[in-house]
Amino acid sequence: MSNFHIINFGCRATQADGGEIEREMLARSFEKAPSIADARIVILNTCTVTAAADRDARQTVRRVRRENPQAKIVVTGCYAQRAPEEIRQLPGVYCVVGNSHKHLLAQIVDQKMASGLQEAATDDPPDANERSLAPSCTAEVYIDQFTRFEKTPFVGQALFAATERTRPSLKIQDGCDANCSFCIIPAVRGRSRSLPPDEVLKQVESLAAEGYKELVLSGIHLGSYGRDLKARSSLLSLLEALENVKDLCRIRLSSIEPLEVSEGVIDHVTRSRRFAKHLHIPLQSGVDRILRLMRRPYTSDQYAQVVCSIRRKIPDAAIGADVITGFPGETEEEHRATMAFIERSPLTYLHVFSFSPRPGTLAAEMHGQVSPQVIKHRSQELRDLGKRKKFEFQQQMVGRVLSVVTLDRADHDFTDAMSENFLAVHVEGPAIDPNQIVEVKISGIDHGLLTGGVVGSR
Ligand code: SF4
Repeated sequence: MSNFHIINFGCRATQADGGEIEREMLARSFEKAPSIADARIVILNTCTVTAAADRDARQTVRRVRRENPQAKIVVTGCYAQRAPEEIRQLPGVYCVVGNSHKHLLAQIVDQKMASGLQEAATDDPPDANERSLAPSCTAEVYIDQFTRFEKTPFVGQALFAATERTRPSLKIQDGCDANCSFCIIPAVRGRSRSLPPDEVLKQVESLAAEGYKELVLSGIHLGSYGRDLKARSSLLSLLEALENVKDLCRIRLSSIEPLEVSEGVIDHVTRSRRFAKHLHIPLQSGVDRILRLMRRPYTSDQYAQVVCSIRRKIPDAAIGADVITGFPGETEEEHRATMAFIERSPLTYLHVFSFSPRPGTLAAEMHGQVSPQVIKHRSQELRDLGKRKKFEFQQQMVGRVLSVVTLDRADHDFTDAMSENFLAVHVEGPAIDPNQIVEVKISGIDHGLLTGGVVGSR
């Protein structure tokens, strides 16, 4: 039987898709290979959120070919959906499976392997409605545009980061109905769709029963959770339903849009015994003119009200933000205004993205594209500011007792852990098993990490 190796790129949602692909491959009796060199099939589950993400995927195709010239390379994910023709030209690519056909990937590979590479070009596709864009080429392309896309089954399986077996991520929502001018995601993931609440509950209960103490709920547009369901639901009602899951200590939300962080959500996180005191809320710019050009539906004042309300109600909460720098037309003055906005906000860390024009988006066609050198410089300034904000937050935690979940990495005299308020902690003393919740008294900061010793457990 053939074996496979899967390489996941990008966000937690893409990683969760990778988990589902892996599960389906295993269900079809493929075996997991420990490395590229050992694999007969190498699956690249790609991201396309920036030009750098595309470049990463192309470089990986070349690396796989170098390390294992016999491997059959299957490219799927967001980049495959956005630019299938570009990918199928890459030497060594066996087939390209867009997000629209991701749920059929294992079946496609199974059929192709069974019939052999040469005959594969004439195989019947697994779905009668499916069309191959490139029947005459060796690398077949399986993709549909969006008329059918929104009806594809919800793909996503709880998945762990590559390096650890703790803090599984569960995708509960996919796609996006918004239309941010810089973003290619709605074009490659289709309309918003949600995993029904009873299914979420079932999966959360099963992860809790397996002994995981923290899990992360992820989605592309998490705040829109439930709006598409026949029995309409909402993120808040889901959070309320999850409050009573037995044995689970902690749930974290991956990212939520500012206007969807209602006072109800903030109050729930404030009161909850389950929800980590941590919210990640994309800002993108601190300047209203740029927010309008980005087609973001809020003003900087509205954003400030949300984060200030969180800080007022949850003084220790981690509050993170995404920021895009170098959006077309962004002046130096506007960059400074964004820096000043962040400086006076209660944000505790930043994810900084350099603007990268995505073909097919409105922003890619806008006048006033900012030069790469200027973008690089502004990114660095924002990253430095983010580091400073994080350090200030860390300093506030010294002398405090934080609740942390232990991770995989442990040595004789320390254990890596993640605090409820999203700070990495080096727990001193004898190694502790992964997936334990312990209380740690923070004694200092060393090499950018909080350090401290255990004072109790839960
Ligand atoms: S909300 Fe905007 S940035 Fe987020 S996925 Fe949707 S279109 Fe993209």
